[in-house]
Amino acid sequence: MPNDFRSRALAYGREGRVIVGLSATLPGERRPSLVAATVQGHQRLHRVAFYPTSGWVCDCIRLKPCPHIAAVALVTGQPHLAGRPEQQEAPATTGATTSTT
Ligand SMILES: [Zn+2]
Repeated sequence: MPNDFRSRALAYGREGRVIVGLSATLPGERRPSLVAATVQGHQRLHRVAFYPTSGWVCDCIRLKPCPHIAAVALVTGQPHLAGRPEQQEAPATTGATTSTT
């Protein structure tokens, strides 16, 4: 479920659940080469990190990349992990209800 995956990652970032403890970018690099963060999941806190050697890791049991990794990737400027960044989600319109006084 890619849509659920991405929207969940966006929600983590939007709700302030992502706390980046470290985001180191080497000179000349556009993306961080070392990241350490925590994501407040629905049941517990997850530790997410990015290492140049092993890539993204998360201590949850989900298949990787999990929404926690995607959320940290979004926050640290690596949105490709969570889908195309330029395609914003359409706002949910629940029909125009005009209330007359
Ligand atoms: Zn995870």
